Amino acid sequence: MGKDRGSTENSYVFFAQAHKYYFLVAVLETVSLMKVKVGINGYGTIGKRVATAVNQQDDMEIVGVTKTRPTYEAKDAVRQGYPLYVPKENIEAFEAAGIKVAGSVEDMIAAADIIVDCTPGKVAEEYKKKYAEAGVKAIWQGGEDHSLTGISFNATANYKESWGVQFSRVVSCNTTGLLRTLYNIDKNFKVKNAFVTLIRRSADPNDSKNGPINAIEPSVKLPTHHGPDVQSIMPWISINTMAVKVPTTLMHVHTVVAELGSEVTTEQVKEVIANCPRVRLVKSKDGIKSTAQIMDLARELGRSRGDMFEIVVWEDGIKVVGNTLYYYQAVNQESDVIPENIDCIRSMCKLEEDPVKSMEKTNKAMGI
Ligand code: NAD
Repeated sequence: MGKDRGSTENSYVFFAQAHKYYFLVAVLETVSLMKVKVGINGYGTIGKRVATAVNQQDDMEIVGVTKTRPTYEAKDAVRQGYPLYVPKENIEAFEAAGIKVAGSVEDMIAAADIIVDCTPGKVAEEYKKKYAEAGVKAIWQGGEDHSLTGISFNATANYKESWGVQFSRVVSCNTTGLLRTLYNIDKNFKVKNAFVTLIRRSADPNDSKNGPINAIEPSVKLPTHHGPDVQSIMPWISINTMAVKVPTTLMHVHTVVAELGSEVTTEQVKEVIANCPRVRLVKSKDGIKSTAQIMDLARELGRSRGDMFEIVVWEDGIKVVGNTLYYYQAVNQESDVIPENIDCIRSMCKLEEDPVKSMEKTNKAMGI
């Protein structure tokens, strides 16, 4: 009897534990069902960073990434556990290179709620048709023109304009940098006219094709396209830009001169810039004299890939004379747009209505 009662109790325990297990599995499945499914088209400089950032959030997940050729990046995507999708005609080449393929690019599009398109600039049209046919949402990057989507995105300046839309575009690294500071300076002091020189890195660190490597190359088509790109989000601002390419891979630097609507003090401007989301003030007096020390700081902060997601402004380089404001800022081109992509997903997929809450959530998950 005792033995029987024992085995009945054991059965109860077994069933109770099994119920708990199935309940837990059901909860986990529901949570997973509730997560937005994100596909990354183009697993390069921007694509791989967006994938990492999506993985760090609790309200979205990666359903796949795409590569066109069986490179080390494709192998690394598989190593990291991402389902890898490739153009149908290239599946054999990937398999011959020993790389496991989950399906075609079209298969990934069908599995996703939203695609973050990180393909190189100017291949968007071919994919826009595919996304439209599949009824999937898509975000493009700054290599594409505003006219592709008619809506551009920056979390600080216009989060709500992408609310629930099918297509949007996260503006370029330089435009993101300018919006992060100028939007709040304009809101507080009214920018009557801004003039910016962009000192641009000539290539990304993993790029051995582009240059110059021993020259300074001015953009002679003036004013450059950066001003109109800022105006795609702040159409009311008067801004003109020039640009030169220099032999560095780390960051861009902007010199900004802005005529303000009234006379303000340098201290007042410093306070506004210090409170701009995703802007970090540094001091040259602390030894941060160049982009080299900024990127060293990012590595020391333990950032993923040593990235500096914030726009970095030299506090001791902010100066107001009369109603003219001068400052310098540095942009880590590979990474400043990454948190913007996460917030853009949240706005387009209606996950969080409040831009401040979305930015805080993204920042916390990414260690910003
Ligand atoms: P990248 O060259 O590093 O990566 C592009 C990826 O797309 C590669 O993996 C490539 O294999 C893949 N690809 C190429 N052709 C393709 C096609 N037809 N279909 C699908 N995939 C294809 O480029 P990136 O620097 O990551 O730039 C991506 C986008 O982000 C561009 O619009 C660019 O202007 C923008 N952007 C780049 C930077 C930067 O500094 N790297 C900064 C901000 C925005």
